[in-house]
Amino acid sequence: MVSGRTFIQNPGPTNIPDRVLRAMARPAIDFGTTEFSALLDSCLTRLNEHMGNSGPLIGYTSTGHGAWEATVTNLFDTGARVLLCDSGHFSHRWGEMCEAHGLDVCWFETGWQRGVDPDALRDALSTDAGRHIEGILLAHTETSTGVTSDLQAIRTVLDDLEHSALLVLDAIGSFGCTPINVDTLGVDACLVVSQKGLMMPIGLAFTGISDRAVDAAYANERGRFYWDWRRRLEAEGYRMFCGTPPIHHLFGLDEALCMIAEEGGIEAVTSRHRRLADAVRSAVGVWGEAGALEFNATKESERSDSVTCVRLAANYDADHVVAIARERFNLSMGSGIGPLAGSAFRIGHLGDLNVPMLLGALGAVEASLRVCQVPIGTGGLEAATKMLSEVSS
Ligand SMILES: *Cc1c(COP(=O)(O)O)cnc(C)c1O
Repeated sequence: MVSGRTFIQNPGPTNIPDRVLRAMARPAIDFGTTEFSALLDSCLTRLNEHMGNSGPLIGYTSTGHGAWEATVTNLFDTGARVLLCDSGHFSHRWGEMCEAHGLDVCWFETGWQRGVDPDALRDALSTDAGRHIEGILLAHTETSTGVTSDLQAIRTVLDDLEHSALLVLDAIGSFGCTPINVDTLGVDACLVVSQKGLMMPIGLAFTGISDRAVDAAYANERGRFYWDWRRRLEAEGYRMFCGTPPIHHLFGLDEALCMIAEEGGIEAVTSRHRRLADAVRSAVGVWGEAGALEFNATKESERSDSVTCVRLAANYDADHVVAIARERFNLSMGSGIGPLAGSAFRIGHLGDLNVPMLLGALGAVEASLRVCQVPIGTGGLEAATKMLSEVSS
């Protein structure tokens, strides 16, 4: 269909608001000016506030993979032992990157349908009597599985055990969607990107770091250059980007941050994500009553407010559902990744999204399931509509 908009319900990239696109459609400015340094400072300050981080915030012109590599190479020397919480495709890949950089990776498996179980983590860390594990790496929201881990419970385990490992958090899929406070949770490095909850094009990534992380980076003798936090921390203004700064992305980010403020701040934005996610979950719950589909995330409280991963019964082809949605109903969704390829699809509900957009998307998902003759309980869309009409705003 060529008429109307194509809906992007991928869990990244997400919808880019027209306001953000327009803010970027302007000539470059001289990055040596006070105009540019004020823009950069203001963006960094607001982002850090949203993260709850009082430490430095380091920016890169890169994808999330770049922020991963920067964080790993700055915090850990070759041979350092880290505990990698493998909760899905993205965290798994991060672990592979750690191995490529010579880290001694202890794989902590969650089974890809669960987040990090605090009791299992406690057991795993209890065996580390000599405190050889220097870092615990996890994805807050694993975008490939639709699972969000309970960060407070993880913090409590570390505190109880008085384990001093650095807590390194991929908040790429959760930032702007699920509340997070880096200082309160004692997170030492918090990674975010532009193209998910921040409603921006791909190309900007950030790591908010603690004083302990700064110290670890300075003590780490590993050779590095482009990603080197020392180089970036010591550089003035735009030089933090280690090259020509991403001027247009900062124009866009400034506008996106204004939109967050206009909505009532980051809490209002995460509350909206919760409401919309609840609506998706109520629709999926009803569809699942016919027994042909279910939530990938088995524990209800771990179902993500950014993305819902739906598994189909063995005899149905999830890629067909994704293809029908795209080709017939102008709806782009995420496919299953890794072991979930062909058996799951993912509905992204993060970033610039409101009620009619979400209901339109859910209607298109329901229609696609019908086209593919996947049996579904009746009234999924109605359940979502009802839920949204009952909440106050
Ligand atoms: C999208 C995503 C990434 C990868 O980000 P890129 O910008 O594609 O490199 C990493 N982790 C999580 C949790 C993600 O959702």
